[in-house]
Amino acid sequence: MTRTRFAPSPTGYIHIGNVRSAIYPYLIAKQDQGDFILRIEDTDQARYVADATDLIEETLAWLGLDWNEGPIVGGPYAPYFQTERKASYIEWAKKLIDMGRAYADDTSAEQIQKYREECAAKKIPYLYRNFRPENPPEWHEGLPLRFKADPKPRRWHDEVMGDLEAGPEVQDDIILIKADGLPTYNFAHIIDDAEMKVTHVCRGVEYLPSVPNYLALYEALDLEVPKLISLPHILGPTGGKKLGKRDGAKSVTEYRKDGILAEAMLNYLACLGWNDGTEQEIYTKDELINKFSINKIQNSGARYDETKLLWMNGQWIRKIVDEQGVEKLYERTLGFWPESAKSYDDEYRKKVLSIIYDRLKSLSDLRDMTTYFFEDPTIDLDMIINNKFLKKFSEEELSDMLQVTSRKLESVDNWEPEKLQEVLNGLLIELDKKPAELFSIIRIALSFAPFSPALPLTMDVLGKNIVLTRLQKAVTALEAPNNN
Ligand code: GLU
Repeated sequence: MTRTRFAPSPTGYIHIGNVRSAIYPYLIAKQDQGDFILRIEDTDQARYVADATDLIEETLAWLGLDWNEGPIVGGPYAPYFQTERKASYIEWAKKLIDMGRAYADDTSAEQIQKYREECAAKKIPYLYRNFRPENPPEWHEGLPLRFKADPKPRRWHDEVMGDLEAGPEVQDDIILIKADGLPTYNFAHIIDDAEMKVTHVCRGVEYLPSVPNYLALYEALDLEVPKLISLPHILGPTGGKKLGKRDGAKSVTEYRKDGILAEAMLNYLACLGWNDGTEQEIYTKDELINKFSINKIQNSGARYDETKLLWMNGQWIRKIVDEQGVEKLYERTLGFWPESAKSYDDEYRKKVLSIIYDRLKSLSDLRDMTTYFFEDPTIDLDMIINNKFLKKFSEEELSDMLQVTSRKLESVDNWEPEKLQEVLNGLLIELDKKPAELFSIIRIALSFAPFSPALPLTMDVLGKNIVLTRLQKAVTALEAPNNN
């Protein structure tokens, strides 16, 4: 049975790379009807951040990456927090001591530093095993415990990186248990993966150089090596180096707050470094589960591109409306509307959403793109005067266009999009203007916004009274420009 795990350290915010390391093992497990485990690797007390576990759980839940075993849900191999599994690590550590494959080490930090400097001076690589103490003390909690390496050539297969090999020079006496009594990542993850019967270890490529040491530990403990899957780095937008905070990459929580949909985030990250070889770009979670394959994970870094994420989010916004209706999207927009929308009812907001959704890249665009549906826009004559289609008209001519339009609209009883389109078309002939000219001045007068949906739709949602009032206000402003 396939068993995979996501094993984050609760050290703070969850970045894009962390999440991708959760998505792939989730897909691998689900594809095989296997189990996906969440394990919290909290042994690094110095880097521990109190709320980080909640954040991890919330993020996974938001993305729909439900874990079969782990915090909250429990499971047959509980506990799933490493700090609660100490007894287990000590037990395995003692096995190594008994076999003569681990030793207590009371060498001081200063002494270790001297060894390093000595090697640096001689220009030889620093390997602790070359300084192994001759008569190590008996181990007790409070003393670091080191592995006694068995350096030799090692070969292994990585599902992404292929057949690999490393020489003895990269194998050392790594620390298994620290002075604080907690295990190192290097030791703990091997024990946990074995005890939790993990079949596939999916993690960032930064762990690859340590694999020879891990192989030595698996061998010493007589444990089967799980399938190893090294995920290449996510690179910054310019492609050169690993994505960092400086590249503007936000935490997953921030993207969520900014109105990125979970489906889009999952889709985007899953495809960052994997594709099924077709042109398909939009995948639901179920499609990803069906189509994912380890052998199509790319072995070189994938470039992070926020523009693409936003594009994908826009696609998902439309997909939700097309497949589930505007109601379903509306439910997810609460919290993204401008302040002034609060005094309007759901029906009105839904109407606004139904004509604007196809322009949204993120839900938070609603905040800036819809204000004029809820409050009178601030009149900005420059927007009219500088408009490329309107530049050639005098203020008087523009005011005339709006007044004729206003009179025509006043007589419309059947205020609905088709009728309004008909009236607008009639006005083009009557005023002898091009659509770009007449419709631009009306559109600006109603919204004073850079974009708005098709005019008849906007007018329909705003309603007759507001349309007439706003046209009138624009007329007044055009006629007395100096007063504005
Ligand atoms: N705790 C490690 C990290 O957060 C996990 C690495 C692994 O998945 O084994 O990077």
